[in-house]
Amino acid sequence: MNTMPPRLAIVIPCYNEEEVLPETSKRLKVLLDDYIGKQLIAVNSYVLFTDDGSKDRTWEQIARLYSSHQYFKGLKLSRNFGHQNALLAGLFHADDADIIISIDADLQDDLNAMEEMIQAYLKGYDVVYGVRDDRSTDTRFKRNTALAFYKLLSVMGVESVYNHADYRLLSRRAMDAFKSFEEANLYLRGMVPMIGFRQTSVYYKRGERFAGESKYNLRKMLSFAWNGISSLSIKPLRFVTFCGFIIFAITILLSIYALVAYMTHHTATGWASTVIPMYFLGGIQLLCIGLIGEYVAKMYKEVKHRPRFIIEEHLQ
Ligand code: UDP
Ligand code: MG
Repeated sequence: MNTMPPRLAIVIPCYNEEEVLPETSKRLKVLLDDYIGKQLIAVNSYVLFTDDGSKDRTWEQIARLYSSHQYFKGLKLSRNFGHQNALLAGLFHADDADIIISIDADLQDDLNAMEEMIQAYLKGYDVVYGVRDDRSTDTRFKRNTALAFYKLLSVMGVESVYNHADYRLLSRRAMDAFKSFEEANLYLRGMVPMIGFRQTSVYYKRGERFAGESKYNLRKMLSFAWNGISSLSIKPLRFVTFCGFIIFAITILLSIYALVAYMTHHTATGWASTVIPMYFLGGIQLLCIGLIGEYVAKMYKEVKHRPRFIIEEHLQ
């Protein structure tokens, strides 16, 4: 291991975060001062704010921070690309650092866990996940939906770290490997485990958003969850095939039964036994076509190779 302390970049996606940025930047400055003083990180470590097409004065604030202290850098996307893409843009533009830690602007995730993350890196870990071991400050609704989501993911075979959001440390080596993942449908927390190398977790308590509101409404949350599943798992498609097979088998059995019944007690075939399966199969078929369509849509997106983010300005 080299003796020089590593250069740290803290990457923060921001969407309409004017209310939290003053406090966030203040706390980060204290933190960096402290870590640099302890020679835990290099003096040229920094914070990179990515403005994800905010409609408020977020970018003006980032620009002001940039001119106020060398710790702060800014990246402005040309429009709102969404949390995951904004985060990716930040990660890609922090490639001059030895270690990158990503965290949300609202500081719901405990900043002090960073020290432990860096210590883990120094011990030779390339990926360090921040894991919340207490969500008591989240609403009951958020807690339960999150739990259901993690369960669903694991049923679908997506390897993910329970209760880990996008608060994590990546080493230079892990980041370089990550760059070779070219997918357009981003679900970072499901992709990072695929990098491999040495991975570990540190634990912390999740706090409350100290200002502003959650930028994830129910619609964004559901679409995020579905994106995670359909980007990383083909189990829903397999399930369709499985259903098709089962229904086919049942139909064969029913036909044999009907035939036998017809030959033995001369029963006229009823209305229900004809019409119900028709509706049933019609429904299943529609469902299957829709599901296949979802994956075709994903492929359509991937094949186009559209940029995952577009930079308007880079303050560095
Ligand atoms: N965010 C973003 N683009 C978006 C939505 C959110 O960059 O379209 C950022 C937001 O500014 C914050 C992080 O993603 O830094 C997480 O958002 P939030 O705290 O609202 O999510 P929650 O903690 O409620 O899941
Ligand atoms: Mg938050």
